[in-house]
Amino acid sequence: MATKGMNKINRIRTFALSLVFIGIFVMYIGLFFDSSPIIMTITMILGFIFVIASSGVYFWIGMISTSTVKVECPNCGKITKVLGKVDVCMYCDEPLTMDPELEGKEFDPKYNRKSHNNT
Ligand SMILES: [Zn+2]
Repeated sequence: MATKGMNKINRIRTFALSLVFIGIFVMYIGLFFDSSPIIMTITMILGFIFVIASSGVYFWIGMISTSTVKVECPNCGKITKVLGKVDVCMYCDEPLTMDPELEGKEFDPKYNRKSHNNT
């Protein structure tokens, strides 16, 4: 897996994937408690919730993907997806902005917060 993970879509995707593994891991742990049906049931349910949550996150990615803007990265020339006002390139982590006012400024995730829009 690529180490580039600053891009928001990539980060959420990684988060969803790790939820699946956590869910499977929790269910796997539950198998060691076969002498205690209560703990086993709890771990199974917990693991199941993690897996369900991850599919929810994947669904959410699908929803927000429709609101992303495809731009050509000025650094590496590849087409990347930008989510929100400020994001980084999926391939080279080059900071990208959709707001001309922020152009040239140092990358800061707090530009994405709503309160910043009023300034
Ligand atoms: Zn790039």
